[in-house]
Amino acid sequence: MSQQPDVIVVGAGVMGCGTAYWLSKAGLNVLVLEQEAIACGASGVAAAMLEAVGHGAHLTGDDPLSAFAGASFAVHQTLRQQLLDESGVDIGYRENPVIHPAFTLAEAETLQAYARTHCDATPPVTWLEGQALWEVEPRLNRAMLGALMTHQAQVLAYRFVLALARAAERRGMTIRHGAVIGLERQVGPGISVHLRTGPTLTAPTVVLAMGPWSAHTAAWVGLRIPVYPVRGQLLELRVPDPQLRATISYGGMYLVAKADGLTLAGTTEEHDSGFVTQPTAAGRQAILDAALHMAPGLDDAQVVGHICGLRPCSEDRLPLMGPVPGWPGVYILAGHFRSGMLLSALSTRCIAELIVEGTSAVSLAAFDPARFTTGVSVSG
Ligand SMILES: Cc1cc2nc3c(=O)[nH]c(=O)nc-3n(C[C@H](O)[C@H](O)[C@H](O)COP(=O)(O)OP(=O)(O)OC[C@H]3O[C@@H](n4cnc5c(N)ncnc54)[C@H](O)[C@@H]3O)c2cc1C
Repeated sequence: MSQQPDVIVVGAGVMGCGTAYWLSKAGLNVLVLEQEAIACGASGVAAAMLEAVGHGAHLTGDDPLSAFAGASFAVHQTLRQQLLDESGVDIGYRENPVIHPAFTLAEAETLQAYARTHCDATPPVTWLEGQALWEVEPRLNRAMLGALMTHQAQVLAYRFVLALARAAERRGMTIRHGAVIGLERQVGPGISVHLRTGPTLTAPTVVLAMGPWSAHTAAWVGLRIPVYPVRGQLLELRVPDPQLRATISYGGMYLVAKADGLTLAGTTEEHDSGFVTQPTAAGRQAILDAALHMAPGLDDAQVVGHICGLRPCSEDRLPLMGPVPGWPGVYILAGHFRSGMLLSALSTRCIAELIVEGTSAVSLAAFDPARFTTGVSVSG
């Protein structure tokens, strides 16, 4: 790219590549800067379940994110065919039931109450017991009292990001290797982006999509950006036939069969991991214990991989999406924690709309980064 880009996006995870996708589609000249490689962080290892109900591991439903998660799920539904046409990359999209087991009476009451209050949901939410349950997923632990059944879609994480990046590249987006170390406001309009090595780059608009490393931007912009890494480990299993028909999700742990033939068993949620990306023996043990509790018949599965990623988590567990206060032209997109693959479709479209049209069709008010920064500044 010889001319000055319209937008510089920092980070080539799902948020950075998704933003680049929508901006390129709107005709903007986009440069993505990535310190390592496309989807080298959480975006490349995620289980990538797009579960609109509970958006991730927890069946909540009443928080500000749930409506947004449902709307993002709808964007994924249209995006999957578009992405195949525009990139040629098969993202491994599939749909399957999700079983949320109850092993105790208290769990059964909670899940049954959830089923009653969501009886009109689409796709349906149902309470199942006995034979009806074993027919959905024969490999379930027969000690469970029953289970809530929801439905989810899923993709292959790395392929999804690759498809976004390739579709954007076909419209002129450029990805360049480089670690950003700071920003500077120019006297006129425009932002200077300083790299660890190489020349300073300039663009009228900059999007910070740096996952857990977003914490570093606090020093760049002199504001509170309370995002930190939460390590999540996964085991890759090769399961002898029959494969799991349903995803099983219990207490934040899950088993999910993927389109590439592997079954992912997860996951840990390590809030004190810092930026350490090595998986641990304790993580492996916890995941195996949970997996075999949910589906004891998987004891002959081969463990063929042990991977992990750092989820970007914010202080209030909600993402930061919108303009950076006091920095006209700079936007941040971070803190999507356990649901970034699901939330990416709408999050990145909204940020692109803000940049192109000045407003987004779906409000980002609940996720405004200013909720952390009003009246507070840190020395940069
Ligand atoms: C084990 C696990 C399972 C998961 N499962 C699911 C799931 O089932 N469903 C779901 O919806 N979500 C899931 N997630 C969450 C999801 O993966 C994340 O929320 C999402 O990937 C975050 O994307 P991101 O682009 O914000 O961050 P990242 O993927 O971390 O990308 C940030 C990028 O920015 C780059 N970068 C950082 N600093 C700089 C710099 N200074 N200069 C240049 N580049 C920089 C990094 O190298 C990185 O490539 C899971 C996560 C994990 C770890």
